[in-house]
Amino acid sequence: MTTESNEKIDILSLEEHELEEIILSLGEKKFRALQIYQWLHVKRVTDFEQMTNIPSSFRTKLKEIFCLKSLFVVQRLESCSDNTVKYLYRLPDGNHIETVLMDYHHGNSLCISTQVGCKMGCRFCASTIAGYKRDLEPSEMLLQLYESERNSGRKVSSIVLMGIGEPLDNFDNVLKFLRILSSERGTNMSLRHVSLSTCGLVPKIKELAKLKLGLTLSISLHAANNERRSEIMPVNDRYDVNELINACRYYFRETGRRISFEYALIDGHNDSYEQARELSLLLKGLPCHINIIPVNKIKERNYHSSKKAACRFQSYLTDLGMNATIRRTLGSDINAACGQLRREQENK
Ligand code: SAH
Repeated sequence: MTTESNEKIDILSLEEHELEEIILSLGEKKFRALQIYQWLHVKRVTDFEQMTNIPSSFRTKLKEIFCLKSLFVVQRLESCSDNTVKYLYRLPDGNHIETVLMDYHHGNSLCISTQVGCKMGCRFCASTIAGYKRDLEPSEMLLQLYESERNSGRKVSSIVLMGIGEPLDNFDNVLKFLRILSSERGTNMSLRHVSLSTCGLVPKIKELAKLKLGLTLSISLHAANNERRSEIMPVNDRYDVNELINACRYYFRETGRRISFEYALIDGHNDSYEQARELSLLLKGLPCHINIIPVNKIKERNYHSSKKAACRFQSYLTDLGMNATIRRTLGSDINAACGQLRREQENK
């Protein structure tokens, strides 16, 4: 069970049955657990004192046993060109993470972080440059939703696990977050409205497949052969392209869910017709969708691309019979790409 240094239990990271066990062990009635769970996850109170139908003496006891974490908004950047809002949050231990709220035609989508920093070392990604600090707790993932909805006054209808960190490298906490998020008596979000993006941790993809959660798996592929992929993604030396695509095929067989492939286009690296052809052969017969993203410039690296190159690559793929779209770049005026804001904060 998750505790702070003062050994209090992180109450927002508890599933309802875990909370119930503790409440019963305190000699209280079972219905109190549901009351508290709903204060936390439906009404989303920030203080035990706000739980007005809980007797005051019991609220005092709760404060002795549990901690109720919160996130502090350090920076809030709002895009001038679209409704994207980017938050830089401070965690209770002083670390920083980013969360991005995006306005899509079908509703608001929230991009949340799963770790402080990242171990994966992808060359083009700002989240990984200063390395990895720690995993986020389930509460800290939930709070990104709760605080972003509260602060913006906007309702989030879908979540993408595409912020800082590698979600499958924080597997247990991410799964717990998903169980609390989708619990009927909590936020009750269908996991069909959740996408999980991974750089390709093959054994975890297989484990996830077996759980048949209904979420969309998004694979950061970015190159169709081992040589090119290893140059930009060290994880490819652990699980190569063929192992990865085999795991994706297995995921589709187990879940029936179409896979989404992310392809960050980099000038002269992965944007030729030959690369498109290799990609189409690699993914042959696998129900999938390819998302082309002109690589976002980060100041530490000299990678670039353009909308024009993305259109050209898309037409190669379409001609080859593939299903490919160009990702709308949201919030480009506010550094909305992964990890850039946190980097600036840490550099201060
Ligand atoms: N670790 C996970 C999720 C976080 S990264 C993963 O690798 O999928 C989220 C997405 O942003 C990934 O597809 C990642 O490759 C991409 N990304 C990171 N930096 C980028 C950049 N500078 N330009 C374009 N895409 C980038």
